[in-house]
Amino acid sequence: MKTLYWTLARARFGKEWPISHQGGFGLELIRMLTQIEGFDAAATRHPRRKTYGVKVGHVCVGDGAPIVVQSMTNTDTADIESTFKQTVELAEAGSEIVRWTVNVPEAAAAVPEIKKRMLDVACRAPIIGDFHYNGHVLLTKYPECAKQLDKYRINPGNVGAGQRRDEQFSTICKVAVDNGKPVRIGVNGGSLNQELVMRKMQENTDKSLGKDSEQIINECMVISALESAELALESGLRHDQIIISCKTSRPRDLITVYRDLSAKTEQPLHLGLTEAGMGMKGQIWSAASLGVLLYEGIGDTIRISLTPRPGGDRREEVYAACELLQALGLRSFAPSVTACPGCGRTTSTTFQELAEAIQGYIRDMMPIWKTQFEGVESMTLAVMGCIVNGPGESKAANIGISLPGTGEAPRCPVYIDGKKDVTLEGTYDELAAAFQALVDNYIAKKYPRKVAESVTN
Ligand code: SF4
Repeated sequence: MKTLYWTLARARFGKEWPISHQGGFGLELIRMLTQIEGFDAAATRHPRRKTYGVKVGHVCVGDGAPIVVQSMTNTDTADIESTFKQTVELAEAGSEIVRWTVNVPEAAAAVPEIKKRMLDVACRAPIIGDFHYNGHVLLTKYPECAKQLDKYRINPGNVGAGQRRDEQFSTICKVAVDNGKPVRIGVNGGSLNQELVMRKMQENTDKSLGKDSEQIINECMVISALESAELALESGLRHDQIIISCKTSRPRDLITVYRDLSAKTEQPLHLGLTEAGMGMKGQIWSAASLGVLLYEGIGDTIRISLTPRPGGDRREEVYAACELLQALGLRSFAPSVTACPGCGRTTSTTFQELAEAIQGYIRDMMPIWKTQFEGVESMTLAVMGCIVNGPGESKAANIGISLPGTGEAPRCPVYIDGKKDVTLEGTYDELAAAFQALVDNYIAKKYPRKVAESVTN
């Protein structure tokens, strides 16, 4: 590697190059190396930060386990049928843990029945109860709810004030101890312990520390999480029963807070940009902040908190989380589709429609494929718009199709594992059906059959 570094350095800058260029060269080198066949970009990632491992149901979070995808229902938990249905959908989409709001007695009372229905359909996704204000009451009054949940989320900013906050927080921890459950201490920028913030603001003024309010709030988030973790330990929980999160709604704050937090604790960390927003904004802001942290080895489970459109699909946040981990080479969840953006050479929409149809087909089929075929999630597909990059990208994929651009002959060569296999022709519907058949055949031949599984996630 060292020899390669100097060879590339000379090729880029000549025998000598200015000191001022040498730092930039490091970055440029990484970009150059990623273009070299066989170079493993993942090798440039920071190693995963060492943490305790926490078992949430049958899923391990931390201690080097694969980074876990989680999500949260937006149904009324007291509505048993809709919460059950959405939970199964989220689990099938790839959510390895699902969180439910437990806010009122009716919601706490519904928990055992929803869990029972999940087991009836072999859905084993561990369930987290999300508690604010009255968790100490609900978990005490509804012991079956406490027993059936796999983890309790406690927001230390929402468990009361002063002495009562510590008592109520400890009550929840003791219920967790009695039931052998882990907790997440989930600090949130929007509900930070105000007594702590006021104390730190005053200290800043009294000692002329010169910190701005953003710095103080970020520090308070970390302090709140760490003090709460100490209190949880004093209440009888073990290190392997505590997960921490410190969510903010601004990416730069999130990165600052988690870097600080990860340097100060070995508890596993749940990452998420809170209130990330709708659609593209929420996805990009989440990916920008979580991507930096994950690349630095920080984070053991993630949720991407997207605001769905009215009537929108809650599974979008699961797809986004899976795509993020797959993009960073941290996990593989489903075959990836490479599709070109299109340009003046693609005046028809056929290739866009085909790319969308293939992506949809993979999402629909993956819950079935993943129970049947070993390693199918590593498959790569390409749907390209013209001859310029079409054959090249298609050859690099397991199955690639190069559609004709404007003015090209109406034929679509298909490449399988780098070799030309067949040329397709016809309408969009015929192309889509033929390409899906090629995908089905490839999977059946290439990936070994799994022994039948009895779970859906
Ligand atoms: S592959 Fe062809 S159609 Fe697609 S972006 Fe490149 S030049 Fe345009």
